[in-house]
Amino acid sequence: MNEEYIILECNKCKLSFIIPADGIRKAEVMGNYFACPLCHGGVSKVGAYEDLRECMEKVNTYERVNGRVRQTRYK
Ligand SMILES: [Zn+2]
Repeated sequence: MNEEYIILECNKCKLSFIIPADGIRKAEVMGNYFACPLCHGGVSKVGAYEDLRECMEKVNTYERVNGRVRQTRYK
């Protein structure tokens, strides 16, 4: 396994965001789990990439409607 960047998607508000795999490993060691930065809902892993650029393109595909990776509102 050589994943460097993980795409997580919120189960509640569907926000997608990218976390370095290293950060996830550190959090797991500390017994923490990532939650949605907007609503603090549970998140699901929806992708993993070695290359940040590829990862961001994937997220952009998810949120193409509004053209922004962050600050997208799905209400
Ligand atoms: Zn959320």
